[in-house]
Amino acid sequence: MFRQISDNIYIRVSNSFDSNIIYINGKEKQILIDAGTGMYSDALNQDLVKIGSSVDAITDIVLTHSHIDHIGGVLPIIDTSSPKLHLHKSEGEMINSGDMRLTLSTTFGVELPPMKIDNLLEEGQTLCLGDVCFKVYSTPGHSIGSICLHIEDQGILITGDTMFPGGSFGRVDFPTGNPQQLVSSLKRITEWEFVIALPGHMNAITSNAKRQAESSYQMASSMFRYQ
Ligand SMILES: [Zn+2]
Ligand SMILES: [Zn+2]
Repeated sequence: MFRQISDNIYIRVSNSFDSNIIYINGKEKQILIDAGTGMYSDALNQDLVKIGSSVDAITDIVLTHSHIDHIGGVLPIIDTSSPKLHLHKSEGEMINSGDMRLTLSTTFGVELPPMKIDNLLEEGQTLCLGDVCFKVYSTPGHSIGSICLHIEDQGILITGDTMFPGGSFGRVDFPTGNPQQLVSSLKRITEWEFVIALPGHMNAITSNAKRQAESSYQMASSMFRYQ
């Protein structure tokens, strides 16, 4: 079930191995941020229909990073439609060269076929899809190509697996994970202006999200002993 966060933004908080999935209605563009594992794609479609969209109506999928719990769900969608895929270049280039290791699919015993990322994202760029614009920030640490997406005019930050509620944060023990980079990424997050944070797992933070970002930074900083 999708929970409405603002006029045009909804989040489907996962209760399984799936990532959370965010749906954004950008009028002429229908956007998903992350796609789950793909194991529950029928349920995803039903939930999208309930809020006036559908899997086939999706024009763009932006991935916060390429772990299988976020990217696996792209496969059933590209079976029947052809949304544009967006991912940070440091993971997108590997996937486009046929290297699926960073997705962790083999680690979890799943065979992910090669796929093509249409748009390689870069630090600092503004990505506009329909009438929604995101500032793209490279926030490595959980993985090299992890990004946060800032919807500045709504005070909403999409944090992927970099920052979670309750002072928690993404793990750093997967390939290309890096504790020092995670701490600097969390520190950067505390410098941006937002009220709501939508993480890749666990619940949405719908007020005072910046304060929670500060506590994630403090926790990671003391755990990994980096500033
Ligand atoms: Zn995840
Ligand atoms: Zn992840």
